[in-house]
Amino acid sequence: MRGASAIAFCLLFGAILLVRPTDAGAKPLQLNRSLCHAVTALDHDDTPPAGRRFSCTGEPSGYQQQSLWLRLDPARAGLDPDDLTLMIHQTRFDRAVLVFRYADGTVVRQQVVGGDFGSHWRAGGQVAFEAPQRAAPVRAATIRFDKLASHRLLRIRAATSGAAEVQSASLAMLIGAALTLLLIGVLYNVSLAIAVRRRFLAWHAGWAASVLIWGFLWSQLVLVLAPGLAGTASAQTCTFLACLAVTLATISAVSPFDSHHLPRIARMSTLALGLAVGLIGIPAALVRGPAIGPLGAVLGVLVLADLLAVAVCLACAWRRGSAEARDLAAAWSVPMAALGLTQFVDVESTLWGGGSQLLVLFASAWQTLWLSIAATRRLARLRIERDRARAAEARASELASRDPLTGLNNRRGFFERIAPLLDRAQADATPLALLVLDIDRFKAINDVHGHDTGDAVIVTIAERLSRWDGPMCVTARLGGEEFALMIAGLSGFALAHFADNVRREIAACDHQALVGSQRVTVSIGVATAGPAARDFQQLYQRADGALYAAKQNGRDRVVHARPEDRIATEPLLANR
Ligand code: GH3
Ligand code: MG
Ligand code: MG
Repeated sequence: MRGASAIAFCLLFGAILLVRPTDAGAKPLQLNRSLCHAVTALDHDDTPPAGRRFSCTGEPSGYQQQSLWLRLDPARAGLDPDDLTLMIHQTRFDRAVLVFRYADGTVVRQQVVGGDFGSHWRAGGQVAFEAPQRAAPVRAATIRFDKLASHRLLRIRAATSGAAEVQSASLAMLIGAALTLLLIGVLYNVSLAIAVRRRFLAWHAGWAASVLIWGFLWSQLVLVLAPGLAGTASAQTCTFLACLAVTLATISAVSPFDSHHLPRIARMSTLALGLAVGLIGIPAALVRGPAIGPLGAVLGVLVLADLLAVAVCLACAWRRGSAEARDLAAAWSVPMAALGLTQFVDVESTLWGGGSQLLVLFASAWQTLWLSIAATRRLARLRIERDRARAAEARASELASRDPLTGLNNRRGFFERIAPLLDRAQADATPLALLVLDIDRFKAINDVHGHDTGDAVIVTIAERLSRWDGPMCVTARLGGEEFALMIAGLSGFALAHFADNVRREIAACDHQALVGSQRVTVSIGVATAGPAARDFQQLYQRADGALYAAKQNGRDRVVHARPEDRIATEPLLANR
């Protein structure tokens, strides 16, 4: 399993590194390299300002409550001026207008406003503007943003319309796959949390659900259902959800450990960090001015500190022998590494423009599925252990009701097995008879041939007796050389015939190898239970009385107790 984790890890990052250079279909446009900037008042019309007002150095400022203009000269930027599509990642603005000016003087305007991206929205949190193809090439493309939150968060890429189509479709496919995996993870964790009543699985499901909703909003797939969510509102919700996801992930990562595996102080401080990320998510989501820069920096530091704290907690619990910590560490290593990677490597233009968000989405899907599999394996192991314990218990109980020498029921097993016979006989008045058998002059066999030979004789007789055992007949060794047989459904002549047959069959057992030609016989006392007298103790006393009579009358015979006989013997079933 850990091998699988390592392989998936390598595949994920290998794919990113491989996709990076092949993402050449779209060219990232950078401020002051391909884009010049200007700021105007909001009431400026949609005609781009004069060229001299644009600056191609420094940073634009003060545009958050005004309009920021970015101008691109496609030919100078090395783009195809006859086939141009601009893709903008970042939708925290009130309105974006794209003005394409062609060589023949024609001007084409396209715009999106918050709550209505029309046909311009694309999967992966981007809007696309495609210059209509005309005989004349595009001379300039100018983008206007009204009330843009931050130019630092802007990502603009240029491509041919064909490449843009392919990129959008590929990105949509990747996002769809990641969201489907996450949805499976959420549903599975919810059902697992309910089934095994583990709180950390519920936290985990909550975390995965927040990433799932975030993914739906960020990717703009939600616009299929609610186009009015386009723009700043969903971008702000995304920021809050991303912070909430970090909080829930922190809780789910440290909550499974008790104080034995994780010191309380470590757990509390990590939870505090996770909570701080969630709380700072509220202003980070609401703020629209330049304060978003410093807030973002604080958030970044807090997230890194939180990641580190979670890693330390998992390592600590792992070292102290927690199996859950091992599973969690393997599961979290992928999203943690993904987040870490985005801090040090610029992956924003990779994965067809999905960048770090798509990476996080996939890493989260991986994490939640991996943890689900780990939890399932642990449950399966527990179930196997439980089944083994049950089988051992059943075996112990079976042994407790068996006589170790002969394998017949002992007293306990006999009582257990005759109980249904007694009940059934009581219910439908089936005749019931108890035969008590005792080997004749057994002491002499012991004395002459030894105790072991006596044992072997007992075993031979028990084997013969057990052949009568069945649904209507229960046999047992009550102790010493005394046996019992309870039979249902026989009475009168049939019962007398059966009892005598038992006596004869046992007498016919071959003990030649043990005691030579000496016959080993049994005496049998039989008592039948009438419909009104199903009390076993009385039944036994009467059968034992009849057995005593059989011994008195010369042994090797069957004596039937008369129904009215009342013979006092030691109470056999005092415990019943
Ligand atoms: P009776 O015909 O009157 O029943 O005579 P008996 O010798 O069979 O009766 P008694 O009660 O005097 O002796 C029973 C003997 O059975 C005594 C005891 O040592 C022996 N015995 C009891 N349990 C075992 C056993 O598990 N193995 C062996 N080898 N002998 C046993
Ligand atoms: Mg005896
Ligand atoms: Mg005896």
